[in-house]
Amino acid sequence: MSERSMPHDATSWSCPHGQDARRGCEACYEESARPSQELTFWTVAAWFTTDRPIPIRTIQDVHHHGRHFALDQPSAPLVYLLTGEAYARDGVQAVAGVIGFLLQNRHVIATFTVTETRATHRSPATATKPKTTRQTDVWLHERGPS
Ligand SMILES: [Zn+2]
Repeated sequence: MSERSMPHDATSWSCPHGQDARRGCEACYEESARPSQELTFWTVAAWFTTDRPIPIRTIQDVHHHGRHFALDQPSAPLVYLLTGEAYARDGVQAVAGVIGFLLQNRHVIATFTVTETRATHRSPATATKPKTTRQTDVWLHERGPS
């Protein structure tokens, strides 16, 4: 795994505002939009389930929100994948900020349960390329001329 491992106990999941990152934090969400000296750049993926299907229109509208937020529906019904970018002090705050987006949309996404998260640290200068080495990169480098 190239992604940083995330903590599993509840206290480690507390964002700077004392919220459980997996339930999202609106303050983190607001902070995550602003670049700052003390914040680093992250990309976050969060899988979550809902009680009711999210309207297709809502899923499509997420893309207009900017900040590379995207809401996708993988194979299973009522299971969604939220991805987004965030400025944060650490991976926990990054998760809280991106999931905070769901709180902003609670009028359409009333209840949700986050089942899995992944936060990847990135440098803004190389935002298109993760810092960590991935298998696919290794493969591309090793392929060489034949
Ligand atoms: Zn917070």
